[in-house]
Amino acid sequence: MKILKFGGTSVGSPERMTKLLDIINPAEEQIVVLSAVSGTTNSLVEISSKLLKEEKDEAIKLIKALNQKYNEFVIELLPAGDFREQGQEVVDYHFNFLASLANDLFTNIEDKVVLAQGELLSTTLYHIYLKSIGVPSVLLPALDFMKIDEDNEPDIPFTTEHLTPLLAKHKGNNLFITQGFICRNSFGEVDNLRRGGSDYTASLLGAAILAEEVQIWTDIDGMHNNDPRIVKGTKPISHLSFDEAAELAYFGAKILHPQSVFPAQKYKIPVRLLNTMEPKALGTVISTESEKGKIKSIAAKDGITAIKIQSSRMLLAYGFLRRIFEIFERYKTPIDMITTSEVAVSLTIDFTDNLEEIVKELNSFGSVEIDKDQSIICVVGDFGAEKHGYAAKVLDSIKHIPVRMISYGGSAYNISLLVGTENKVEALRSLHDRIFE
Ligand code: ADP
Ligand code: ASP
Ligand code: MG
Repeated sequence: MKILKFGGTSVGSPERMTKLLDIINPAEEQIVVLSAVSGTTNSLVEISSKLLKEEKDEAIKLIKALNQKYNEFVIELLPAGDFREQGQEVVDYHFNFLASLANDLFTNIEDKVVLAQGELLSTTLYHIYLKSIGVPSVLLPALDFMKIDEDNEPDIPFTTEHLTPLLAKHKGNNLFITQGFICRNSFGEVDNLRRGGSDYTASLLGAAILAEEVQIWTDIDGMHNNDPRIVKGTKPISHLSFDEAAELAYFGAKILHPQSVFPAQKYKIPVRLLNTMEPKALGTVISTESEKGKIKSIAAKDGITAIKIQSSRMLLAYGFLRRIFEIFERYKTPIDMITTSEVAVSLTIDFTDNLEEIVKELNSFGSVEIDKDQSIICVVGDFGAEKHGYAAKVLDSIKHIPVRMISYGGSAYNISLLVGTENKVEALRSLHDRIFE
């Protein structure tokens, strides 16, 4: 069984939806994971934020505008008659439900329910479309088998346990469709895998059923060697190891959800990144294999805060770092980069909700300096210790840019640099020119 995930633009219009059958072969066993139609989740986020702020009239206006788009979508997607009526009923149901939420107490629980409507709509409409053209398929409710725990960690055994009987119940059927992104949390409430989470769904499903491969179909021909939104002339990479892909996804390559590589890596399921608009392009294969001795790609992650703790108590002391890390652990704040000297340690975080409390506690160790608006530039490749020249090449490429932190040697496939976000674009372009051009 294969998992095929189609992102927002791949289902972004009725025309695109109908073209999915150029890629999906209904005779092959597969689970097709769909995102919401592009733009929908952004609109739902906006609607939800109005409702959270009790701006009911504004919210209703946005709901009506989105509803109108879906009315048009149904007319274009489905032939007049029974199927179009079914599609319209689905749209009416979801938008009446959204409108009804405007009249009640609106909390973070309802917020998640609102965000789930996009994937529920896209999958149900696609399922009706397949019926309308006589292609058999089964719609699987992701909320019945996708689950996260109290730490927002996905529960793969739960998925295996609940999905396997569902698949068995429809034995003989090849084409299954389900929602990306959405899941239930440990309270049983509707929740999600964070923005871009449909990639994560696909990889988690791949792991849960030990799929043959996971295909992520998107609007570009694979992982490029730099961010194509910022740098001109980027090129697709044919092979990446799981480790390399995980670093790139985590450090900002938007093509993949930050955590989406890990389940596939753990269960050794190859992941292919493919282009819906150009299905014949080779794309990128992510697997245990990789090309050796090369710089592969560069990515950047914004919204980083650097924290420097300087203390003479650190000199020749042991246990100092543990005590610092414990503070971050207590505030459930992950650390991304870390560099040390004998009397100071610098580290970076991107989750800053508890920054004030963290700094208060860190102050008891020494002086604390905070730098906001930083970006991590991550250069990924195969940099085994026996190889030389990579760090020099990277640093030489950005010698005109102030660098706040450098991390090298943490793994054999990553060199990370922290720069002010105002210098990110120049850093990406300059690295690209000197490394790949
Ligand atoms: P989808 O809606 O299919 O999930 P996304 O917008 O989430 O698609 O991801 C695809 C986009 O990721 C591309 O259009 C591209 O602009 C962006 N992107 C950022 N960095 C990279 C990269 N290194 N390689 C390829 N695409 C990238
Ligand atoms: N629809 C969700 C989002 O826009 C999930 C996804 O597209 O992967 O974030
Ligand atoms: Mg995406």
